[in-house]
Amino acid sequence: MKMANSAVSLQELGISDLRAGRAVIGALVFEVRGPEGSAKAAALAEKLAGLFAEREDVRVSARVQFLPPRPLQCFKCLEMGYVRHGCTTPENRTGACYR
Ligand SMILES: [Zn+2]
Repeated sequence: MKMANSAVSLQELGISDLRAGRAVIGALVFEVRGPEGSAKAAALAEKLAGLFAEREDVRVSARVQFLPPRPLQCFKCLEMGYVRHGCTTPENRTGACYR
C-alpha cells in the first residue's frame, strides 16, 4: 500500500474523505463518501488497477452501495415518523442522547 500511497494522489481525484478498513476475508476496503463518491471510487479503482496490473496476487474492484434513506425521527421525544416541529408528545427526551 505504500507504493499506492505515493503513486495515487487523492487530491487529484477529488477525494477528501477516504476511509480504509478490512473485509472479513482480509481484503483492504476503501470507502469513498460524499457527492460523486461512486465516480471518484471508480477513478480510484482504475488508478489502483493500473498500478497493480503486474501483480497477480492483487485484485482491484469497485462497488457502489447506496445507504437507505434515513427515516424521520423526532429529536424531542425520539419517536419515529415525524419531526420535532410536529411533535405533540409531552415526553422530552432531548437529554437522553449520550453524545
Ligand atoms: Zn416528538
